Amino acid sequence: MRTGGCIRHVGRVMGCLGSGVILFGKGFAMLKIHRAEERATKRAAEDLFTGDVFQDEVLVGEAPSRMRATNVTFNPGARTAWHQHPVGQTLWAVAGVGRVQVEGGPVEELRPGDTAIIPPNARHWHGAAPDRIFTHLAMSETGEDGGGTEWFEKVSDADYSR
Ligand code: MN
Repeated sequence: MRTGGCIRHVGRVMGCLGSGVILFGKGFAMLKIHRAEERATKRAAEDLFTGDVFQDEVLVGEAPSRMRATNVTFNPGARTAWHQHPVGQTLWAVAGVGRVQVEGGPVEELRPGDTAIIPPNARHWHGAAPDRIFTHLAMSETGEDGGGTEWFEKVSDADYSR
């Protein structure tokens, strides 16, 4: 809210108007909004995924944040290749029916509202069920050295169907 040419927030002066320019005080942080129409949906790289996969970037954090968030939609049967993340990954199932497997463990089904937490540097894959589309929000952090996802071979039909 504005009083006397200054913008106040809970009683604190956040910025003042001078010659028509808003001068922001120390500690004031601007809200940033990425409008949906500014960022088109991308098709995921063919060499890293099986089937049709679409990615909407949510966030690439700026230092000191190392956060990455992407909303990913898989067509039926589509999935990532085997890969791992330096600080692990959290998947939140948004829509449809999905699958996820950490190597050595069972193939697990994911449904809307489920959260899957994948440990650091654990080979895994995730994707849609064979007959259902699947959308998840994928959240991870880059490593302390800035390293990102490490990719391996594609998931065979035998492993996917296990
Ligand atoms: Mn992953």
